[in-house]
Amino acid sequence: MSDAIPVTLIPGDGIGPEIVSATVRIVEAAGARIDWDRQLAGMAALNAVGDPMPVATLESIERTGVALKGPLETQLGSGYRSVNVALRMRFDLFANVRPARTLVPNGRYSGVDIILVRENTEGLYSGVEHYVKIGNDDHAAAESVAIITRAGAERVIRFAFEHAVARGRKKLTLVHKANILKLSQGLFLETGRAMARDYAGRVQFEERIVDAAAMQLVMAPESFDVIVTTNLFGDILSDEISGLVGGLGLAPGANIGEEAAIFEAVHGTAPDIADQGIANPSALVLAACLMLDHIGHEACAGRIREALETTIREGQTVTRDLGGSAGTHAFADSIIARLT
Ligand code: ATP
Repeated sequence: MSDAIPVTLIPGDGIGPEIVSATVRIVEAAGARIDWDRQLAGMAALNAVGDPMPVATLESIERTGVALKGPLETQLGSGYRSVNVALRMRFDLFANVRPARTLVPNGRYSGVDIILVRENTEGLYSGVEHYVKIGNDDHAAAESVAIITRAGAERVIRFAFEHAVARGRKKLTLVHKANILKLSQGLFLETGRAMARDYAGRVQFEERIVDAAAMQLVMAPESFDVIVTTNLFGDILSDEISGLVGGLGLAPGANIGEEAAIFEAVHGTAPDIADQGIANPSALVLAACLMLDHIGHEACAGRIREALETTIREGQTVTRDLGGSAGTHAFADSIIARLT
């Protein structure tokens, strides 16, 4: 494969290997020219080479700059809080992108098509926490510090604007709580307002206080287009938005940095259904579509999305969680049969 694009492929743990192999079959059937570099991480890597985040895997991602990853299990005592978080930190993947679009017919909502961009490295999740001792009580108080830097805000808001332009989106809503957290959230908002001038006429800029945004997402989700927000709010709102379109089983995610991007399903390893061939591969297939968009194979991604959506709408060959009885690979075959 001479002009194939190199991509690191991490099968992962639990249902990971099943949904990864189904996804690879679909991507290849759609005609994408990819040179997969298979690497281990998580429990599979710990068992094979004694390290949940092997050097070979890190070097592969450094080389390719793009990874498609199954869910990973982090064993207690492995030295990592989470391999997923460690990968995010190692490659400084500052933007977490979570698109959500109505796929399942007759759900509570229709017409939802939102891309949420969450700052992934700072805010209240900076990891700066401590207890305060008062008298004899070591845990009399606890403090968690929310850190927003201008550089951190700039890079994620710039990314969100650029992503909106690249995907032909019309509006960016910055979600904040600057009315109460005047300094940290204020800096995020101020940075967004300043940057909005660079995109005037191309992307409409809108501000929403997080509590109002949470309500509006339920009342009128179709009024949102692209959203950018800080780490904690992004964590909460991205799951809320997944709920609007049928839950985590259909939710893909991308973690994007300057040097690397890692694409994954939002759900976990689902140990309760692992190795049974019944897992729904859709979230990872949609993550692969984000990856194909990222590496310039948009047409291929579009074909896969259409085939997946048709398969889900028809409802004949879908997995149990979507109300059917098909296995992972039968579902994949049905998507492949609909690729045009
Ligand atoms: P982890 O500890 O890795 O997060 P978990 O089981 O706590 O795993 P999930 O893996 O997200 O969390 O699973 C939550 C529930 O959703 C489980 O009952 C699981 O069977 C189901 N589930 C998750 N992903 C899928 C999938 N792709 N197809 C079908 N069911 C799934």
